[in-house]
Amino acid sequence: MDALKKGWFSELCPLWPGMCLSLEVEEIIHSEKSKYQDIMVLKTKSHGRVLTLDGIIQCTEADEFSYQEMISFLPLCSHPCPKKVLIIGGGDGGVAREVAKHPDVETIIQCEIDERVVELSRKYLPFMASGFDNPKLTLHIGDGFEFMGKHQKEFDVIITDSSDPVGPAEALFEESYFRLMKAALRDGGIICSQAENIWAGSGLDIASRVYKFCQTEFSSAAYGYCLVPTYPTGQIGFVLGGLNPKTNFKEPLRILSKEEQSQMDLRYYSPEIHRCAFVLPRFAKKVMDGE
Ligand code: SAM
Repeated sequence: MDALKKGWFSELCPLWPGMCLSLEVEEIIHSEKSKYQDIMVLKTKSHGRVLTLDGIIQCTEADEFSYQEMISFLPLCSHPCPKKVLIIGGGDGGVAREVAKHPDVETIIQCEIDERVVELSRKYLPFMASGFDNPKLTLHIGDGFEFMGKHQKEFDVIITDSSDPVGPAEALFEESYFRLMKAALRDGGIICSQAENIWAGSGLDIASRVYKFCQTEFSSAAYGYCLVPTYPTGQIGFVLGGLNPKTNFKEPLRILSKEEQSQMDLRYYSPEIHRCAFVLPRFAKKVMDGE
């Protein structure tokens, strides 16, 4: 409860010491300790409803679309025909909502560790949890690392929409997890994982570490990012890896027309922003690519 003082929520995390984002709170809609983490749903003055896990902002009503669209459409539009998609984490439902929009996607399997995140999102965050009602989706409750170990050559795209590497998501940032994802992909498959930011605390170290795993395990790899005001420093990245050495993440294979973008109600993703997402500032490029 240190995070809540005088009507303000402050995001305090050891991954970015000495700094925090604060949001003015109108109402604590729900607060509980689940088997895995502290869960809060807040109503804020500036950003609508907000989901926090262990005191870390996961998504806000005002800007969640940026992250959800980019972690979904960067890999989906880099694949020639993404029919079967696996989502790990994503308990708010936002990534399922986006993935289901892609016309080639026929089946979505999702594995989320904490059923309380799903239940509370259904109750209080229906604008994201609508993803769970899509008939393409089958939801499993369980640990994503264990789930991955039981599947081989099954998925065209694997999206890991995990919380940060403290708590239940820690194993999803290990090299062994990237090896398991590689084995779970069909030929030509692609993975995309949440990979922190390049500015705050240990963000760039974590990003470059998981990027190295992608470079080691996959034939093609890239680090891209999007802008989200309510993530630390307003930026969050993704690592992408592909089994096909010809996959060029920086140039979308599937170009969504302006009509498709409108029909899909995309507010952040476009082919133009896809290309921009991989252009890194020089200091970050040096760490990532040694250039
Ligand atoms: N966009 C968010 C962010 O980075 O702040 C992530 C959103 S989503 C709510 C993260 C989800 O990952 C949570 O619902 C959490 O319960 C789930 N999660 C954490 N560790 C997991 C694991 N080992 N297996 C499956 N799901 C996991």
